Amino acid sequence: MTTYLFTPPAVQSVAIQGKAERFPINRLFFVGRNYHAHAVEMGKPVDKSVERPFYFTKAPQTLTPSGATVAYPPETSNYHFEMELVVAIGKAGFRVQAENAHEVIYGYAAGLDMTRRDLQLVARDKGRPWDLGKDIEEGSVCADIVPLPGVVIDNGAIALEVNGVTKQNSDVNKLIWNIREIIADLSLFYHLQPGDLIYTGTPEGVGAVVAGDQITGHVDLGAAGVTRVALTVGAAE
Ligand code: MN
Repeated sequence: MTTYLFTPPAVQSVAIQGKAERFPINRLFFVGRNYHAHAVEMGKPVDKSVERPFYFTKAPQTLTPSGATVAYPPETSNYHFEMELVVAIGKAGFRVQAENAHEVIYGYAAGLDMTRRDLQLVARDKGRPWDLGKDIEEGSVCADIVPLPGVVIDNGAIALEVNGVTKQNSDVNKLIWNIREIIADLSLFYHLQPGDLIYTGTPEGVGAVVAGDQITGHVDLGAAGVTRVALTVGAAE
């Protein structure tokens, strides 16, 4: 039996709608600039004919359940919401063909890719890694996973409100690289594993929150219903 110097960190997991079992987390992948209008608002338009998608990762320890209240994070004065559709991977896949991408999908959830925008833009413009801007404690919010094994979501409203006021309002059909294309491309670089989550990118309308703000968002999954995410931003520590 293996013994450890101290208690090993807990396995991160996400609740699954309608199930007692939880979804254990392996890795968190994020697609950058995957809606045209958001790429334009960031000053970096995307030409799909000559570009490929790009990715960043966050530690699984950044995961936070929907409904949580989190402290306004340190070392930022421009903390942004990004509303995203999250794909939960349920089967291993390497060099997955786009037409077979549905086979590795377990389900979906609404998620928030919280971002220290000030630090991200400094890093971006200096050619530095994005970790301090993106890999934020309590900064990867994920709703309960809706099991939809083998189903590809190609469209559906995606929207976010702050204190009840709509800030983001788009449709998953505006993804530059759709879910089949993301799984095919990402699996060229990684052996996808059960427990991987892929945050698929945010539409336009990102913006800052302050202590006391209540974020709500949803993605329409068609016949499977609506997945909803919520986050309350508390005072800084
Ligand atoms: Mn994002």
